[in-house]
Amino acid sequence: MRILMIAGNWKMNTTVSEAVKLVNEMRQGLDEIANVDKVVCPPFVSLAAVKEIIKGSSIKLGAQNLYFEEKGAYTGEISPLMLADLCEYVIIGHSERRQYFHEAGDIVNKKVRAALKVELKPILCVGERLEENEAGRTEEVVAEQLRSSLAGIDSLGDLTIAYEPIWAIGTGRAATGRWADETIGFIRRSITKLYTESVAQGIRILYGGSVTADNATEFMEQPEIDGALVGGASLKAEQFLSIIKQTSEARGRLSS
Ligand code: PEP
Repeated sequence: MRILMIAGNWKMNTTVSEAVKLVNEMRQGLDEIANVDKVVCPPFVSLAAVKEIIKGSSIKLGAQNLYFEEKGAYTGEISPLMLADLCEYVIIGHSERRQYFHEAGDIVNKKVRAALKVELKPILCVGERLEENEAGRTEEVVAEQLRSSLAGIDSLGDLTIAYEPIWAIGTGRAATGRWADETIGFIRRSITKLYTESVAQGIRILYGGSVTADNATEFMEQPEIDGALVGGASLKAEQFLSIIKQTSEARGRLSS
């Protein structure tokens, strides 16, 4: 059975001291939950400080982005080699990067390759816009994002996919558990077509988009959903902890 994962994407929030305070508030509660992979993804500047605090705990660390070159004259960018020293996971292709920083499939593809090369574990985000959803084009859009992001990559390593419908991110308008489950089922079938059934069965696919302590159980009880990528609610220790507790309990029910 795939191990469920809850990853908190803090986005461009928290100063270093706020990040330290937040992770200190979460540390003990998160560490007490054993059957879920718990990942926090603070801003780059806080990675080292957060790493220190979670040392010796079961909490894992991720970055929110990376550049695909290893080093050189790329002012302001952060390379895979720099991150490999600091953290285990990296979010790639988040819709905010696709939208505000014009990262299309070819860039996302280079970033996934660069992460895998240094054994960082990518959390690859895909998801459709509202107009695409309303036009019934979700599967077509998501299939194309998968195809372009993974083109020419033979081995996915420990890659996780996050299905994040753009209309649900930060809007308070989450998808239904059923919609997310069906679309994630489609994503799994697409991975079977691109790779093999066993790769598809082994890969974790998360849902993301306005997950909170009030709706987490609805998602975590779905058989295809392997966890969540959480934005806003991951900035509140109590909410994040509650989401992870609900995930752990849902996993207990699913496997019994
Ligand atoms: C996200 O940023 O990936 C996200 C899902 O945000 P939110 O939970 O705030 O919708």
